[in-house]
Amino acid sequence: MSIPVSRTDAVTRILFEAFGKAEVRLFYLIGYAAIAVFFYGVYVQVRKYRRGAALKLDGGLWKRLGDMLSAVLSHRTIDRRDRGAGGAHRLIFYGFMLLFAGTATITLEYDILEPLFGIRFWYGEFYLVFSLVLDVAGVALIAGLLYMMYRRGWMRLPKLDYARPDRVPGDPDFNRPQYRREDWAFLWILLIIGVTGYVLEAARLVWLQDRADIWDTRWWSPVGAAMADGLRALGLSAHAGGELRHGLWWFHGLIALALIALIPFTKVKHIFTAAASLMVRDPLAAQRLPRVPESQAEAGAAKITDFNWKQLLNLDACTKCGRCHEACPARAVGAPLSPRDVILSLREFAKATLESGEVPEAAELDIHGKGPGQVAMETLWSCRTCMACVEICPVAVEHVPIIVQMRRKLVEDGAMDPLLTKTLQTIHKTGNSFGESKRKRGSWSKALPFPVKDARKEPVDVLWFVGDYASFDPRNQKVSQLFATLLREAGVDFGILYDGESNAGNDVRRVGEEGLYEVLATANVNALSSASFKSIVTTDPHSFNTIRNEYPDFGGKYEIQHYTTLLKQSFAEGRLRVANPLKYRVTFHDPCHLGRFNKGYEAPRELLALLGCELVEMGRCRANSFCCGAGGGRIWIPDPVGAEKPAQNRIKEAAAIPGLEVYVVSCPKDLTMFEDAVKTTGNEGKFVVKELIELVREATVARTVAAVSA
Ligand code: SF4
Ligand code: SF4
Repeated sequence: MSIPVSRTDAVTRILFEAFGKAEVRLFYLIGYAAIAVFFYGVYVQVRKYRRGAALKLDGGLWKRLGDMLSAVLSHRTIDRRDRGAGGAHRLIFYGFMLLFAGTATITLEYDILEPLFGIRFWYGEFYLVFSLVLDVAGVALIAGLLYMMYRRGWMRLPKLDYARPDRVPGDPDFNRPQYRREDWAFLWILLIIGVTGYVLEAARLVWLQDRADIWDTRWWSPVGAAMADGLRALGLSAHAGGELRHGLWWFHGLIALALIALIPFTKVKHIFTAAASLMVRDPLAAQRLPRVPESQAEAGAAKITDFNWKQLLNLDACTKCGRCHEACPARAVGAPLSPRDVILSLREFAKATLESGEVPEAAELDIHGKGPGQVAMETLWSCRTCMACVEICPVAVEHVPIIVQMRRKLVEDGAMDPLLTKTLQTIHKTGNSFGESKRKRGSWSKALPFPVKDARKEPVDVLWFVGDYASFDPRNQKVSQLFATLLREAGVDFGILYDGESNAGNDVRRVGEEGLYEVLATANVNALSSASFKSIVTTDPHSFNTIRNEYPDFGGKYEIQHYTTLLKQSFAEGRLRVANPLKYRVTFHDPCHLGRFNKGYEAPRELLALLGCELVEMGRCRANSFCCGAGGGRIWIPDPVGAEKPAQNRIKEAAAIPGLEVYVVSCPKDLTMFEDAVKTTGNEGKFVVKELIELVREATVARTVAAVSA
């Protein structure tokens, strides 16, 4: 539609027309008051975060800003595994931002540029095009809001249900109806603002129907124009339109101002806190846990102020989307843990204690209690530190360091399962969780027909960090022997540390025993320093993670790879060859510490393809893989009698694959957990659990036997 300049030049936004001076003054007064309340709220929130422990962030500000903007503008973190929510939130976000930009531009011109500098741009074609954009933005906003209401009201997604797995019905804190009320209030307020905006526009058009400049260009606001035609058809006169516009103007304006004032005190603040949380995100939050700050007398969080400012900000960033709640393997098997509820409990506690003038004495965390805002120790011990929550959170809440920090306090107080206490003592005494003599660490290699080099005594190309399970567990020892054979056949010059190796400490650290972790990490770094090698390989994803991501903080920076990468490379270089394609129908379990933690998704799959296996993925795979249940030290804590274990839950998922022959793992603990789960779920004889190393050996054996005899 082309606009005749002479006619449209006069078109402009009608603001306070027909308002008395007193009315305009009153509106400004309320507006200033709303802004004052907003800034006071911002002050209270910022003061709350500043009451947390100090933290210095790595990385440049501009890079962080760029990453945050890219995440926010693309909505990729919200899209992940929930395209419906991502699409609807995108409509709301862009609709709201455009409407906000429109209102801000009007204010800029009306209150600043025109009175001070005589600059006017909110008229003519600019005004008309902007009117069209804002009309479309309003439709987007309303469509997004209606979809969100549909999800909450009709789809009733379980992740949006606030029933807590760590409380029982009847407990006043069980399903927190105040959260539901807040969610609905937020949606309704935005919807009312959106809808009344259109009705207001329509009423204004009816009121000014005799002004050709306005009426003839009304279709630049198509929704408002259509509604205006409707109102006229219903008999609304110009005078009544004016009255309606006047009343609605106040209604719409007051709700919008109330929303601004309430931003810092309600869910609406996630507009800012989520963006800030994304900006301060640590991409290695779960992979590289922080050391205890020297300024902190005791390890662990005893008070809410022991959390750092970023963690307090994280608490406020949570939008209660429930994705972490849904992804958590502990919650899935009925344990009293929901990562969402841990965050929300701490948020309530931080609000109750840190938003007042003085920090009250009650800022102490009662980790044994179940009171409002407190996190019970059964909840903390249920965590597998599998990182599923951190990975899926769209606003970069970092649950794992928070949970481990609280566990550190439990460990310090001795508030843990007796078996865990005993295992930690055993590790302290012997350097391994099996309680075996250090001297026996390399005993598994005695069954081999060739000697395995001691990397402390002679230089090697590749140092194999074996790990506890692969060294001492009889079933895994057999796999270690196969891997050693494969390395030899591939011509890899390798060695091990024998009794110089200690438990890598990954799970000790995630239990919260930071002191013991420091002892283990330091001992291993010293042992590695005494050896001569070019790179490290390990069959244990847990050791892989801590050596790769955490040992650098202890002075040990190494080139390290998981065995799947090394074997893949050996095939690529022709040092291993498939002589006997396997043709098994298999599924692959991504270990948390290889997949989610270190993005090692491809090498195992490429190996399986090389071996000739037909891979059928489980629904929960790659980043969404389901934890075996052993992580975070849970392998040393008995599961409640009668309760389903995560490994059993997982095996049931695999059992649904028609014709499955092999459940493939690439982690020693997984082998133990899943072989047990196959038996306890009645799947014995239907399919077998195998280490990928065993399949590689099986597929290469014809050539390698010949090669060995040659
Ligand atoms: S780390 Fe895993 S087990 Fe722990 S709260 Fe997160 S999702 Fe649940
Ligand atoms: S912590 Fe993150 S994933 Fe969990 S409910 Fe809150 S926003 Fe959603």
